[in-house]
This record gives sequence, structure tokens and C-alpha cells, in this order.
Amino acid sequence: MKPWEKNIRKVVPYTPGDQPAGTKLIKLNTNENPYPPAPGVKKAMQELDFACLRKYPDPSSSLLVRCLAEYYGVEDEQVFVGVGSDDVLAMIFLTFFNSEKPVLFPDVSYSFYPVWAKLYGIPYQTPALDEEFRIRKEDYYQENGGVIFPNPNAPTGLLLSLEEIEDILKHNQDVVVVVDEAYIDFGGKSSLGLTRQYQNLLVVQTFSKARSMAGLRIGFAIGHRDLIRALNDVKYSFNSYTMNIPSLVLGAEAVKDQEYFQKTVKKIIDTRERAKIRLRELGFSFPDSKANFIFASHSRIPAEELFEVLRQNQIYVRYFKQPRLENSLRITIGTDEEMEELFAFLADYLKTH
Ligand code: PMP
Repeated sequence: MKPWEKNIRKVVPYTPGDQPAGTKLIKLNTNENPYPPAPGVKKAMQELDFACLRKYPDPSSSLLVRCLAEYYGVEDEQVFVGVGSDDVLAMIFLTFFNSEKPVLFPDVSYSFYPVWAKLYGIPYQTPALDEEFRIRKEDYYQENGGVIFPNPNAPTGLLLSLEEIEDILKHNQDVVVVVDEAYIDFGGKSSLGLTRQYQNLLVVQTFSKARSMAGLRIGFAIGHRDLIRALNDVKYSFNSYTMNIPSLVLGAEAVKDQEYFQKTVKKIIDTRERAKIRLRELGFSFPDSKANFIFASHSRIPAEELFEVLRQNQIYVRYFKQPRLENSLRITIGTDEEMEELFAFLADYLKTH
């Protein structure tokens, strides 16, 4: 070992899903939206002033913050934006989870949470989901240093009701509670309204899923202005210019087209509901997802085998080789055509295996 190596901060990083190159493949592995962003975004991209890239972006991201505040009916001071919700969540862990008591999040949930906790040295505990992969709200009534969970949860797709979330909030008034709503637009009710009553609640959302803009990296948090101020203090101690100019301009444009947003979200929900029927016919079972993916296991064939044969045939889904998850595939909802190809391949494979 070289002398300087002892000072390296060693981390086990989060593993993102593959981004394979090529046009012929069917990519159902990272919960991207199969449809392009709103047409206005394309126009704004074409009209973007090339020369403006010479300058630093607005450090307060006010254009995008304003649009989001207006859209969600809150004050500008209640909105924080970041480079995807991953950036927003990383800032949240750094800002608010600073207690000796453990932060609580489910054992099966977004696998980035334990990575941030370890990176920042935050103690944490992971209450187990029940047999049916549901969050047990009572597990979050114990003393803790903060609470975070996705709603709907990932990779299960299961949704908590607003009543259950409010119960968790009632039992956790002295810590920050974070609801990660990356997938909320695909059939859930947002907790945003609860931020009026609960000043310790932060709701995080992203442009990567329902808004079809994973490539631009835009996420945001909404909550009480004191929480947002604290987040900004940490952000400005880290990197003043997190949001680049194209993201600010195109992100603001995307928020304006409510009709396109609703239309594409509805298409994905309809495809998901049809996919549930088809997958059941093929012998799969799964929790009842309200997200843009289905977490399915087959009655006979191990998930790892299916994952491999699908990949060999240029169909990419996500597989987690971890306790409780290793017999399921997380299948992102693609276009109807993509899903038909998936079902046709599976039907064929299952006939002979
Ligand atoms: N939260 C959850 C639950 C997710 O699944 C993801 C997507 N990997 C994210 C947050 C982060 O998404 P993004 O950084 O693209 O906004």
C-alpha cells in the first residue's frame, strides 16, 4: 500500500443501470420515458443562444424555480433545483441527516440511499418491508435522525396513501421527513399539499421520468422556506453553478406543456395496465405497481436466467442480485411496440423452457 492510499475515502459506489449503445435494442432497464420531451422543448433547444454558453448560468436558477413555483402553487423560496433528483437527494442527506440517531429508510428501496449515508458517515437503519413488499408505517415511529422513502417505492412500484404518509409525519415532527416522488405522476397522489401543514416535510421530484428528460438532469425539492434556505447554504458551499443554461431554459419550457405531459403519462399508465394482464398470462406475479415499471418474478424460471437471455436478445431489463430481489426483474414500461416484442420473446422462450 502506498503511503497516501491510507487517506483515500473508500466508498462502494451506486451502480447505475447499463446504457448500452445501439439503436436496435429495447431498453427497459432504467425507467426512462419511451416518448420524447414536449415539442416546445425541441423548439427552445433549437432557439437557444449559442453565445450565452460563454457565461456562467444564474446560480439561483430563478427561471426554472419560478416556473416550478407557479406550477405547484408555492413561493419561489420553497423550491430547490438540482442536477437530477440524485443531486437534490445527495444535498438533502448532507444537509439534514446530521444526527447521531439513525436515519430510517426501507430495506428494499432506492439503492442510492445507503451509498450517500455511508459516504457522509450517517448512521442508518433499514426496517424490512413486509412479506408483500409493503412499507410498514409503524416501523417509522421509533426515534430516528430523519426519514426518507420513495413513494411509490422502488423497485416494487407500491404506493403509500396520503393518510399513511401523514401518520408517519405525525410521529416524526422533530426530524426532516423526505418523500422521494420520482414516480408519483404515474398514478399516485403527491404529498406536496402536506408541506403546508408539516414544515419538516420535503417532497422531491424529477424531470427524468414523467417529463422525459433524464438526459438533461433536472430534479427539485419543495418544502418550507427554512428547509430550502438550509439546502441552498449547503449547495453554495459545494458548487454554486449546479444547473447549466440549457437545463434551466429547457426545463422551464417542459413545465409549460401540461397537455403533452398528461397525454404521455396516460399512454404509459395504459401500457402498464395492459402489461400487467400479459405478464400474468405468461406466469409472472408482481406487486401492483403505480410507477413506470413492474417488478415481476416468474413461477418457474429464475429471474437471472430470464435477464441473461433477454440481454442476449437485445432486450434490457434491470436485475438486482440481492437478498429479496434476486428472483425478480424490474421491467420499465416502454412503448406498446417495445412491450409486444418483450411479450413475444417471453412467450416463445417459456414454451420451450
Ligand atoms: N429516486 C428514485 C426512487 C429513483 O428510482 C431515481 C432514478 N434512478 C432517482 C431518485 C433519481 O433520478 P434522477 O437523478 O434522474 O432525477
